[in-house]
Amino acid sequence: MSLHIEFDLSIDGDAPAEPFLDRFELEQMFAGARRSIGGDLRRKFADFVCAEHAEAPKFKISGVYDNSMEEMDIQYHVDTCCQRFLMRVMQILNQRN
Ligand SMILES: [Zn+2]
Repeated sequence: MSLHIEFDLSIDGDAPAEPFLDRFELEQMFAGARRSIGGDLRRKFADFVCAEHAEAPKFKISGVYDNSMEEMDIQYHVDTCCQRFLMRVMQILNQRN
């Protein structure tokens, strides 16, 4: 079963006159985030399904690059078949590496 991972990466605000990162570099950063976060989740959750319902978790990663702050805010949204499995997924998600 392949893991469901969806990315929603966007840019917020107008670019400053002399942006820290130009458009191309931002795309590179987004691609890097997809690779590293996606790879990390696939590694951690390979063949990981709910013991009761045999369903894999679904992930949605929202990332907003704020042009004025020049900061990237990343949020994980996890969708699971039941509360108990969500707890298990969150435990693993919060483990270092
Ligand atoms: Zn379940």
